[in-house]
Amino acid sequence: MAMVTGAEYLKRIAQLESTIWIDGEFVKGKSTEHPAFKAVLEAKASLYDMVLDDDYADILQASDKNANFSFEIPRTKADLTKRRKATQLWAQSTLGVLGRSPEYVNTMIAIMAGAKDFFAEDGKEYGESIQSIYERAVKNDYTFTHTFVNPSISRKPFYPDGESVEQPVAAKIIEENEKGVVIDGARLLATQGGITDELLVLPSAAFVDSDYLFGCTVPSDTEGLLFLSRPSFGKETQFDYPLSATLEEGDAVVVFDHVFVPWERVFMYRNEWLMSQLFARTGIEAFLLYQAANRQIVKTEWLLGVAQALVDTLNIGQHTHVQGKVSEVIVALEAMRGFVYSAETQAQANEYEIMVPKLEPLKASACYFQMTYARLIEIIQLLGASHFISAPSKKDFASPIAGRLERFMRGEYTSAKEKTKLLRLARDLSISEFGSRQMLYERYFFGDPVRVASGLYHFADCQKQKYVEWVQTFLKKMD
Ligand SMILES: Cc1cc2nc3c(=O)[nH]c(=O)nc-3n(C[C@H](O)[C@H](O)[C@H](O)COP(=O)(O)OP(=O)(O)OC[C@H]3O[C@@H](n4cnc5c(N)ncnc54)[C@H](O)[C@@H]3O)c2cc1C
Repeated sequence: MAMVTGAEYLKRIAQLESTIWIDGEFVKGKSTEHPAFKAVLEAKASLYDMVLDDDYADILQASDKNANFSFEIPRTKADLTKRRKATQLWAQSTLGVLGRSPEYVNTMIAIMAGAKDFFAEDGKEYGESIQSIYERAVKNDYTFTHTFVNPSISRKPFYPDGESVEQPVAAKIIEENEKGVVIDGARLLATQGGITDELLVLPSAAFVDSDYLFGCTVPSDTEGLLFLSRPSFGKETQFDYPLSATLEEGDAVVVFDHVFVPWERVFMYRNEWLMSQLFARTGIEAFLLYQAANRQIVKTEWLLGVAQALVDTLNIGQHTHVQGKVSEVIVALEAMRGFVYSAETQAQANEYEIMVPKLEPLKASACYFQMTYARLIEIIQLLGASHFISAPSKKDFASPIAGRLERFMRGEYTSAKEKTKLLRLARDLSISEFGSRQMLYERYFFGDPVRVASGLYHFADCQKQKYVEWVQTFLKKMD
């Protein structure tokens, strides 16, 4: 099989029998026909079709033409460049807003398989597990989501389950036997939870003891696995909500109700030392951030387009503060491109001969974008002002007031309808539920920004020390 068409992908997802609850209702029947999931699944299907399209195949297929690019393990800098182009191409077709584009987690699976000897340090069976998970994913052209974070009744350190031993809150190992392990408890969000082929589970950084330390994959329709999805922000009318109607992904709390995971799906088990090394030594942290930064470049390009289109349509480009605001978007775009360029040009092969982009600039890009995205959206709001509130709807244009709209809502150079389409798009990006969730996503999807920044502070210790010594040398000369 190896590379599926969009239709084949949808057919497979339709056959999944995941247990999904959304807004108090159990999702019966095919998720591909459910109003909360249909649109995003179709958007993902179009990504699969692009891979088989001759116009994109050179970029979107792996070099051996046996899989899509996300499963290719980069060995050279040229492989990284190809991966950047592929991620950006997929992101362009989803405007940079799709968080769980298939390559996000696929890349992790591929890189972990490339570093299978890392997992085998704890027993060769763990190396074999990650390799077979990878091979199955490639063979079937799977898509995954992941869940890393423990819920807890309190964020007090070492307190995920409160006083209860019987009823764990955070997912943990409660039993093991010769066939596998049993997991009980929950995990915080999985974007697209329940509508991907499989779920990747990695240990949370905030583990309490080894009962919480396991890495595995499970099919989304595994018995006992429940996805508690938040109410959908999806909308029906594309004219009114161009993004909510097409790219709403859903996020779900994942409940493991005595879920049995066979050993051949477990690739990390109760090993604190390996857990502490996982992200850095295998290279998955750099690759996750590399994918995210490339997607965010495309998203910023899109925001720049929206910002300038607003400026042109509202005819406000003569004001210097408006020029300054659009320039801020340009600065953000160039900064993100710079981080990626720096990471790519300084890439080095790791101990598993995987060409890994340099981590420092990517960690900096994560920190930067977590802080900056909110400002970019604020700029859209400041440019659009009350125009977002007064923008009419599709129904208004089909009603007896349409003539009045043309008179009062048109732009200097645009019809009322054309102007409204742009305003509704910018509105959906910046003040809708969908837009607000996007903001939270960019701030949190890679972790709490406070702790991401603190992580960078400590990670950069060597670099900082070098410059402190430089300053000290300078100061000594002043005696
Ligand atoms: C839209 C969205 C989609 C997501 N999708 C996924 C997904 O697909 N897969 C996945 O694994 N995760 C996903 N996440 C979860 C994401 O990883 C977490 O939001 C992130 O790690 C922060 O954890 P938290 O939300 O539990 O916040 P908390 O850790 O509860 O933090 C809440 C507040 O308390 C502060 N705080 C708490 N503890 C500390 C501390 N020790 N030190 C300093 N400050 C602290 C934080 O700074 C923050 O202000 C998603 C999140 C969002 C918003």
